[in-house]
Amino acid sequence: MFGTGLLKGLGITLKHFTDTFKDDRQKVPSRYQDSVQLDNGRRIIEQPLSQEGLLTIQYPEERRLLPERFRYIPMLVWDTEKGEDRCTACGICAKVCPPQCIWIVRDSDENGKPVTRPAEFYIDTAVCMSCSFCAEFCPFDAIKMNHDYELAVYDRYPQLVYDKEELTVPVEYYAALWPAQYAAEQEQMRAKEEEEQRRAEEKKKAAAAKAKAKAAGAEQEAKPKRSKEELDALRKQAAAKAAARGKEGESEAAPASSADDAKKARLEELKRKAAEKARQRKEQSGE
Ligand code: SF4
Ligand code: SF4
Repeated sequence: MFGTGLLKGLGITLKHFTDTFKDDRQKVPSRYQDSVQLDNGRRIIEQPLSQEGLLTIQYPEERRLLPERFRYIPMLVWDTEKGEDRCTACGICAKVCPPQCIWIVRDSDENGKPVTRPAEFYIDTAVCMSCSFCAEFCPFDAIKMNHDYELAVYDRYPQLVYDKEELTVPVEYYAALWPAQYAAEQEQMRAKEEEEQRRAEEKKKAAAAKAKAKAAGAEQEAKPKRSKEELDALRKQAAAKAAARGKEGESEAAPASSADDAKKARLEELKRKAAEKARQRKEQSGE
């Protein structure tokens, strides 16, 4: 029907109008009293999800509190405790970035050997489409999404190409922008460290037990523990064995000597027969 859309629109406007008064009545004296005053003179105002009315913000002096998952352009996290970049210049973020707007130059030591930190890191924020793939894929939680959206400049290049210095923020800044995510990451990190520590201790214990068993085995081999009685019994056994072996030797030697005697007697017999034959041959030749 003609005019239905118009009436519907007016109804929505009227609802916002009345909701705003309802919100005002819920929060006495003012919905703006819980705002946070920043050092730079600005105020951050939060509208709770329970309120549906209109919230008037005096921008730019006042800003709305952004939800944690709001993202604009990436930032690099500086580990204040360790005093170093979290980034290891692995290059994964540059690889996964759909519009390819990240450039990284890996640093090197005095011998020219590459080291795990970036010497240069650039993001062309004019090309970045805030997809957050870089932050999702970074294995070191080194790149996160910043909430800062006021990046207007007069010249696109080079002002919108952010270098490492412009991108780097302390870890505390990241923790303040993303409190829930930061707490979850810390918890994960703590659990990982504990697991690593537990494994290292288990490994250490296993190595100590192995070394102890090895030492005990070597000691046993080197010094067989036998009592005096056992040793005496062993000595007696050895003596008995030696005696038995001596007797066996004698009995084996006797048949050998008798065989020699028989051999000698046979030789004598043969010699005697040969001498007899020679004597007979001599007598026949004398005839
Ligand atoms: S920000 Fe993360 S993914 Fe990108 S180079 Fe550094 S460590 Fe690798
Ligand atoms: S947010 Fe997306 S487009 Fe922007 S630098 Fe990261 S991966 Fe690239």
